[in-house]
Amino acid sequence: MQRPAWSRFSVKRLAVVAVAAGVLAWLIPPIDRFGYSSVCDRCGKHQSVRGWRTPLTYATLFQRTTERDTPLSKWLTQTGIVPSHTHRWSGAHHNVVAYVNAESDDVVKLVEAAHRFGEIELRDKLLRGTFDPEYSRTVQLLTTLMPPEGFADADAFHAWMAEESWIIKNMLPQSPPGR
Ligand SMILES: [Zn+2]
Repeated sequence: MQRPAWSRFSVKRLAVVAVAAGVLAWLIPPIDRFGYSSVCDRCGKHQSVRGWRTPLTYATLFQRTTERDTPLSKWLTQTGIVPSHTHRWSGAHHNVVAYVNAESDDVVKLVEAAHRFGEIELRDKLLRGTFDPEYSRTVQLLTTLMPPEGFADADAFHAWMAEESWIIKNMLPQSPPGR
C-alpha cells in the first residue's frame, strides 16, 4: 500500500532537520564552562569565580563568585596587621606559590613567630615575599627550614634567624614593604 504524499514529505523534512541539527551540534561547541581562582595579595584571602558562557562569543550566561578565608588571611585579620582594604586579586595562574602559601599553616607559624618576637621588619618582608612571584618560593623554603618543634622563645627564634641569615638577607625582598 502506498503512503500518502504528505507523510513522505514530512519524513523527508524531518530527516533534513535532523541532519542540519547534527551538523550544527558538531560545528558549535557546547556551552563553555569557565572558572578561575585568585588570591588577595594583601591579606591572602581566596576568591573563586565559576560560570558558563556562550560558545564563540564568550558572553557570560551565569557567574558565581565566592570568597573564603585562608589560615593566613584569618591570622592577618585577627591581629589587625592588614587593615580594612579593597581586596587586590591576583590570579593563581600568575603565582601559584602565593596561592599555596596563603593556605599553609607553616607560613602562618613563621610570620607569627617573627611578629611575636618583635622582628617586625622580617615579618613584613615575609608577608610581602609570600605574594611576590619573585620571592614566594623563598618563603616556602624558609618554612621547611624551621625547627619541627617550633620556636620556644625569642632566643630560639634569633638563633634560627642567624642560621638562615644568608637566605633572609639575599633571597627576601629588601625594599620597605608597600602595604
Ligand atoms: Zn584582601
